[in-house]
Amino acid sequence: MPDRLVYSTDGGRINTCPRCGLSYKQCRCDQPSSTANQSTKKSDGVVRIMRDRKHRGGKTVTVISGLLATDEAIATLAQQLKKLCGSGGTVKDGTIEIQGDHCDKVQARLVKLGYKVKRAGLSS
Ligand SMILES: [Zn+2]
Repeated sequence: MPDRLVYSTDGGRINTCPRCGLSYKQCRCDQPSSTANQSTKKSDGVVRIMRDRKHRGGKTVTVISGLLATDEAIATLAQQLKKLCGSGGTVKDGTIEIQGDHCDKVQARLVKLGYKVKRAGLSS
């Protein structure tokens, strides 16, 4: 812990943060960022896209997981992606599944929307 006491020019102690002007009780300048907080939860804010095969010899699906959004927002995104890929898909537990291999399209769209995207699972 750094020493947070700050002395004003007349020698008196001040109890407000020089950065945000709030009292140290309210100040959040030294708090971990929200991104850092999320890393301790199940998602680190990175959306993962992977190709998966539901069953042996079954159809390939594109799985999008790690979305930090409300169910509603994820459902809306799923609609967009299904339209983009021209495929059907489902949303389950915050994970979107699009039928077929659409990793490249999905990745390009999510990056455009500002998501941090990582390809996971099967390569090539
Ligand atoms: Zn502050």
